[in-house]
Amino acid sequence: MIIGSHVRMASPDYLEGSVREALSYDANAMMLYTGAPQNTRRLPMEALHIDEMHALLQENGIPAEHVIVHAPYIINPANSVKPEVAELAVEFLQKEISRTVAIGARYIVLHPGSYTTTDTETGIRTCAEQLNRVGKLPEGIVICLETMAGKGSEIGKSFEELAAILERLDHPETYGICFDTCHTHDAGYDIADIDSVLDRFDAVLGLERMHVIHLNDSKNERGARKDRHANLGQGQIGFENLYRVFANPRLAAIPKILETPYIDDKPPYAEEIRMLKQRYDQENRQ
Ligand code: FE
Ligand code: FE
Ligand code: ZN
Repeated sequence: MIIGSHVRMASPDYLEGSVREALSYDANAMMLYTGAPQNTRRLPMEALHIDEMHALLQENGIPAEHVIVHAPYIINPANSVKPEVAELAVEFLQKEISRTVAIGARYIVLHPGSYTTTDTETGIRTCAEQLNRVGKLPEGIVICLETMAGKGSEIGKSFEELAAILERLDHPETYGICFDTCHTHDAGYDIADIDSVLDRFDAVLGLERMHVIHLNDSKNERGARKDRHANLGQGQIGFENLYRVFANPRLAAIPKILETPYIDDKPPYAEEIRMLKQRYDQENRQ
């Protein structure tokens, strides 16, 4: 099983500290922002302890592609109303790709964005245009568009919308999908019937395109389009349904990342990973 969580990337040990944090949760995967997600200021790569990160990964038998980068959520490639916002998205994404190459990671998770005051169709077209302006991705890099909840004017709330973006890309082979359980539930998909959801995903996008899973419960009912994550078993999806995603044989090779909320300012990830593994052991013990 490939399981981990969102981890911090902060002074003094940066990426090395991120791996240590993941190890403290008994994880073998992790996802991080290369800096504050709400701004585009970034430290020089030399400061980020990349070599130490790789040494620690190697020591623990964790492949570098289990370190996943999440692009900051202020990037909005679907905004056609303010060209400077889309411009910033392209520029920042190009730098983020270089940083991901330097880190030695493979997958970059990206929100397709919000159309603001236009419409879904325009948002989809704008997003694809901006991604095409980013150009051909370097060897080994895959940008994973995330399934979104459909909050406000978000695009990417259905597999069809994501497919419509991919169809317009000059280099679709270097793009994949990140499947977020909270977001798809909020967008109306029934996680309790995960195999039907995966059949639909496979028909529209191709299951081989799914490279990252965000495993989150949701505070809201199915179809609410709210995007508020809950701790595993504390929301409207429920622990057993999330466990069925975690343990699904069709998804075995895909890293699962927890983005559940902190409890009393403490990360819940060690406990949630323990719960998933315990359930797995229980099921696979005769
Ligand atoms: Fe995300
Ligand atoms: Fe997510
Ligand atoms: Zn979310």
